[in-house]
Amino acid sequence: MDEIKAGIQYAFQTHNRLTLAVSGSGHCAMEAALFNLLEPGDTVLVAVNGIWGQRAADIARRLGANVCELLKAPGKYFTPQDIEQGLVQHRPLVLFITHGESSTGVLQPLEGLGELCHRYGCLLLVDSVASLGGAPIFMDQQEIDVLYSGSQKVLNAPPGSAPSRSVSEPVLCFTREKLLRRKTMPPSFYLDMGLLANYWGCDGEPRRYHHTAPINSFFSLREGLAVLAELGLENSWERHRANCTRLCQGLLDMGLELFVEEERARLPTITTVRLPDGYDWKDITAFLMDNHGMEVAGGLGPTVGKVLRIGLMGCNSTSDNVDRVLAALRDALKRCQRSRL
Ligand code: PMP
Repeated sequence: MDEIKAGIQYAFQTHNRLTLAVSGSGHCAMEAALFNLLEPGDTVLVAVNGIWGQRAADIARRLGANVCELLKAPGKYFTPQDIEQGLVQHRPLVLFITHGESSTGVLQPLEGLGELCHRYGCLLLVDSVASLGGAPIFMDQQEIDVLYSGSQKVLNAPPGSAPSRSVSEPVLCFTREKLLRRKTMPPSFYLDMGLLANYWGCDGEPRRYHHTAPINSFFSLREGLAVLAELGLENSWERHRANCTRLCQGLLDMGLELFVEEERARLPTITTVRLPDGYDWKDITAFLMDNHGMEVAGGLGPTVGKVLRIGLMGCNSTSDNVDRVLAALRDALKRCQRSRL
């Protein structure tokens, strides 16, 4: 567990002691973050430009929080001006934003957002499930208060096991203070950050049994983090960037249209390409699976029926795989039925 903590600290670029893996999938980390930060009536500002903001808003509503949404069209990202307007208007306690919006393929720039939030007395909560290891993120330097990720993306470990989560020191104090002031207990025993912090040896107290950890998954997560550390974050970021650029160029050369127009806003791990007119996306994804043993996803949430999503992450992010996907897609577009209506 200590080695996993060190691996997460490296991947997150943080010195923060309260760093641990939750026993569950990305949603579990998302709930852990929101359950521990919010109490009924607290105001949370959720940046919604795809399904992950929608989900965060849903979870926060279930907690009885006062949820304010900052909206952007799918495929677009938030500027510091957008965020500042939301902070001024709603004066939230927490801002939720997604670094790698996997339903739309957008990479959200994080520069300056932590500082901006703190100027307005707001905490910054970031979802990096689809981006960690694939695009730069610097938890301490970017003043991110709460950060979580997932095991099954760039880290190549099994899903549903142990996404990493980290809370920066100020939030630890905040959370503790808030826990003492809470009218209600944190709504989940399983995800109670105070109990988890003890279980993971983050609070300097002797460790007490909290739940039975999914140890097989933890071994895989430890290995995934070790592989990332051996490769080095910079090399991993560069590899994902280069392969994403190669993929995007190949798709454009085929006459296809990318969903995210601005090149620098494209998520290096997941590329969204507009479904060409006349095709049924299900025909294409089924063809790729049946004939090329390859899983390309259709849209998700607001992009259903509009895009195909190509995920190349971790060990799958190679130039050979880029060429394989492009060849397979070319074959699919030739062989799948196209309506002329
Ligand atoms: N956030 C983002 C950005 C994701 O891409 C995902 C998974 N696709 C999740 C959260 C949820 O993770 P999980 O499916 O592991 O619960």
